[in-house]
This record gives sequence, structure tokens and C-alpha cells, in this order.
Amino acid sequence: MAAYKFEYLWLDGYKPISNLRAKTKVIEFDEYDGELDRLPDWNFDGSSTHQAEGSSSEVILKPVRVYNDPERENGYIVVAETYNPDGTPHETNTRATVKADHENMDFWFGFEQEYVLMEGSGRPIGFPDGGYPEPQGPYYCAVGYQHVAGRDIIEEHLDTCLAAGLGITGVNAEVMLGQWEFQCFGKGLKAADDLMVARYFLFRTSERYQVQLELHPKPIKGDWNGSGMHTNVSWTHLRDIGGEDYLKGVLADFEVKHKEHLSDYGAFNEERLTGKHETASMEKFSYGVADRGASIRIPIFTVQDDWKGYIEDRRPASNADPYKVVSRIVSTVAEAHNKLI
Ligand code: MG
Repeated sequence: MAAYKFEYLWLDGYKPISNLRAKTKVIEFDEYDGELDRLPDWNFDGSSTHQAEGSSSEVILKPVRVYNDPERENGYIVVAETYNPDGTPHETNTRATVKADHENMDFWFGFEQEYVLMEGSGRPIGFPDGGYPEPQGPYYCAVGYQHVAGRDIIEEHLDTCLAAGLGITGVNAEVMLGQWEFQCFGKGLKAADDLMVARYFLFRTSERYQVQLELHPKPIKGDWNGSGMHTNVSWTHLRDIGGEDYLKGVLADFEVKHKEHLSDYGAFNEERLTGKHETASMEKFSYGVADRGASIRIPIFTVQDDWKGYIEDRRPASNADPYKVVSRIVSTVAEAHNKLI
């Protein structure tokens, strides 16, 4: 027998932004190789996470996906959904709101998670004490001590994610000093689960380096880029058949639902979606070919390939709950698709 460590991971009930919570369950197995169905349900004190009253405090954790935890011996990360004792999904269980269409229509998602690493003083790492570095311009995809801060953290996080089997497809330094991005691709809910686990690893890495992972979409006011979670999406019909009328028909429904989508695309997003710094205005929905100032960008490759491929929703904020974003996109696309086809 060996003792295996299972880190159960869930989202709490804080508003407007939920936090990641996690705790370790040790289970003895002769051997264990990542099988989901061998893991038990568990529970936690919901009165400590804004998810229950003290008088009836138990919230149930149901394992839904397992990953290797490369930083712990015999370690695994267990993504869990939250349930009430009567078996219904907890109201904060946003993953359970994603409709089955994500499987029927074979949705793929690619998230671009931007974030800022901060000193304890609330300044991005690399910013001089009490002042500002030279204006943004040289920092995006930069190399060299004068233009880059925090690369060791990013490298360590990337290695951990890859060893865990997450669908990370790249990393880069972003437009503001101390701001970085990783990209994460996968089918349906796996993409969102990967993103949550990648965030978890980044938080844990930040503990070792004593920096703060800041997911606020506009952490530094003024002429500094905010952070987004651009969401690239495709589904079978768009990948294989597509068509200009079809895609524009789908986007017409995105326009109608613009405000509903934004309500689930993260908090404080109005500070970021100003129409400046490669964003579209919060007030008005727009789309455009290759347009990084639009709500939705249609890549040139998609147009050149007879309007087949993917689109990029540029509205989600860096602090968005990926399950809420996936849920909105899947239901809007499925509804539009059923009208158009
Ligand atoms: Mg970016």
C-alpha cells in the first residue's frame, strides 16, 4: 500500500469573483493511476467559503477530472463540482450549468489567460519603487533584464502544467511589464478544467516566489494594458462547413445577448473594455475580420478558408469563471445553430 495525495479543487461562493479552494485527501491504494471512478465524494465546511450556513454547513465535492500533480510525490489534482446534500448542484456550481451541447456539437476552446504578477506593495514586479518604468511598448514578447520580469516563475509554471498533462499551447510576456499570458486549448469542459488547474498551479508557484497572482482585468490605471481571457471557440459545423451567412447568423445572436454574456465574463471588466488598449467598448457589440478592437475577431484564416474555422471572443476578463464563459457561448451558439440549420 502507498499513501496517495489527492488535492480536491473547487470554486467558492465569493462575489463578484469566486476563489479557488483546495484541500488534500490522503488515500491508501496498492496502486493508483489516475482513474476517476476510484475516487470518493468528499465534503467541506461551506460556512467558511460563503457556500452554506453554519447550521447546515456541509457541501459535497464530486470528483469530475483527475490530473497528475508533478510537484508532489504520489500527488494528484482532483477537479470537483459542488453539490448540496440532497444531490442537486450547488448554486455556485457553474460547471454544472454547461449544456450537453458542448459534447453533441464538439466544441473546442482555446483560452488566452493574461495576468499580472505583483509585489506585496501592489505594484507589478519590475516596476521601480514609487515610480513607473518606461511607457509600454518594449515589453510584449520581450527578452532582456530591462524589459522582462518574472521569467523564472513562468518557466516553472509551464513545466508543471506540461508535466500534469494540461493542454498548454504557449506562453508569452505581455504588453505591461510584469504581465504574462499562457494559452490553454482543449475539447469542451476539458479546456475549462485545464484552465482552472493551470491557475491553481500558478497560485501555488506564486507562494514559492512570494509574488501575488493578480487576475484583476485592470490592475494598473492609466495607459497600461488590462488583462483579458480571450476565448477562441470552434464547433463541428463551423470547422467543417462554415459559410459567411452561417457565421454572421450566429454572431447576430451574440449581438442580441451581448449584455447577458458580459454579465458572466468577469468583474470590473468595464475598467478594461474601454475601446482602448486593443479592446472593444463595453457598450456596443462588434465583430470584424482580424480586428483586435472588436468584441469578436474573425481570423483571416477563417475567412480565407470559406468561413470555416474558429472565432475569438475578446470580451472575457482575466478573472472570468471559464465555466460561465463556456456556458454562455455554448448555449448562444447552439440556439443560433438550431435556427440556422
Ligand atoms: Mg494576450
